[in-house]
Amino acid sequence: MFLAGKRALVTGSTSGIGLAIARSLAAEGATLILNGFGDAAVIVELCEELGATHSGADLTDPAQIAAMMDAAGEIDILVNNAGMQHVAPVEDFPVEKWDTIIALNLTAAFHTTRLAVPAMKRKGWGRIINTASAHSKVASPFKAAYNSAKHGLDGFTKTIALELAEHGVTANCVSPGYVWTPLVESQIPDTMKARGLTREQVINDVLLVKQATKKFVQPEEIGALVAFLCRDEAQNVNGANWSVDGGWTAE
Ligand code: NAD
Repeated sequence: MFLAGKRALVTGSTSGIGLAIARSLAAEGATLILNGFGDAAVIVELCEELGATHSGADLTDPAQIAAMMDAAGEIDILVNNAGMQHVAPVEDFPVEKWDTIIALNLTAAFHTTRLAVPAMKRKGWGRIINTASAHSKVASPFKAAYNSAKHGLDGFTKTIALELAEHGVTANCVSPGYVWTPLVESQIPDTMKARGLTREQVINDVLLVKQATKKFVQPEEIGALVAFLCRDEAQNVNGANWSVDGGWTAE
């Protein structure tokens, strides 16, 4: 239980990858603050399972982020994970979708980080882990906002890694390939439309085509990596962008 006594906030942790990260950190003794949307009864069950509290803050709203951070108190481990996707050709890309995706997938991490860093510096220990994506390193068509936000998140992470390096605080990205979660499932209809493909073709010829293992990544694999990055043995892993993509970005 190497995280006993540490407080961890994982954004977007009511589902998918964030929930697996929260479970992995809780299993090592961290006190969890969950964030995200979902069925109220399910969220109550998750809080009971993990001994966690929950913030329903909408992270596209800086005022709600500030209120969440204020209520959370001093955070030792900050995982910026909440994110969303929209798939459309650039000329048809809805302007409000662009704004929302940049706000959630990129700007929210700036706000949580700027508010969490003073306590981390004071304590001389902290971990900031940002869920980026293979799309922080390479692009796919029809994902203009997502690719831009994730590339930006990589740059933001490197910047704070350098700023915080002498304060015992590390900042890294974890970059999954395709993980079977609601975020991936929900983009299949728009991808079918944008590319004129069937559901099976989208899964095999778009999603898994570049993932050399031809397998979806499991959320628990990301949870295990995030827990490793919180270890003292990972104190020199800083400013990295760690791929978990079955070899996609090795090509
Ligand atoms: P998901 O849809 O299962 O979970 C998203 C989480 O974010 C949920 O808890 C949801 O309630 C929360 N959320 C959504 N909008 C929010 C808002 N405005 N404010 C606060 N919380 C909000 O998705 P996932 O696949 O688990 O994705 C998690 C992260 O992993 C995202 O940043 C995503 O870009 C990234 N990622 C996912 C994949 C994949 O294949 N699934 C691959 C690479 C990166």
